[in-house]
Parts: sequence; C-alpha cells; structure tokens
Amino acid sequence: MEPVQTAEPGLTIQRCRWCGTASFRRLLCPVCASSDLQPERSTGIGVVVQSNVVNRYTGTARNESLVRFPEGFVYRCRVVGAAPNLVWIGARVRPVAGSDTDSGEVVFELCDTAGRTDWQ
Ligand SMILES: [Zn+2]
Repeated sequence: MEPVQTAEPGLTIQRCRWCGTASFRRLLCPVCASSDLQPERSTGIGVVVQSNVVNRYTGTARNESLVRFPEGFVYRCRVVGAAPNLVWIGARVRPVAGSDTDSGEVVFELCDTAGRTDWQ
C-alpha cells in the first residue's frame, strides 16, 4: 500500500474535563488549573486580534500574531502567506497543514489573501 498522508488540516486542542474550558498547548487548565485535559479536534481557524512584526530591522522580519479561536482561547503564533506587516487584525487564519505536531511550532497562514486588497 502507498503511505497515506495523515496530516489533515486542523488543530488538536485540549478541553478541560472539569469546567469545559478549551486551551491549546497548556499543561493545566487556565481556568481551574486541572490537569485533566481531553484532546479535541478543532478546525483551527482563528481570527487575528493583534499583529506584530518582530525583528523588523534585522532582515529576518517575521509576523507574530495573537489569534483568537472560536473555542475561546488565544494563542500567539507566526502567520505566513503575506509580508509580516500585512497581516491585518480581523484576518482569518488556519494552521499550515502538517505543522501541528507535538513538538514543532504551529505556523498559521492567511485563509483569504484576497481580503487584503479590500483592506488597503
Ligand atoms: Zn478547567
């Protein structure tokens, strides 16, 4: 058999069994500090609420955005697919396929780069 590509889009998040709060890459629930977290699959589609360019003057500028997810948590991450200074607040982003591994950095990309022309 051919190897199957299992990297489907989306994120594995955690849902607290005690209070139901969703979180991402936490060891403890941010609300009740329980460690009883259950993995849950999310679309991983979030909205940029804060956009920063880091290393602006070093030639290796990259975007670092604060993204809010429908499950209710925010996560600071890198957004690719546009110049670092062109990631706008309110942009929808999704995880780059295959980047959600246990150890790796999760990188997000813009869902809709065409929206940029309306915004400018
Ligand atoms: Zn909790």
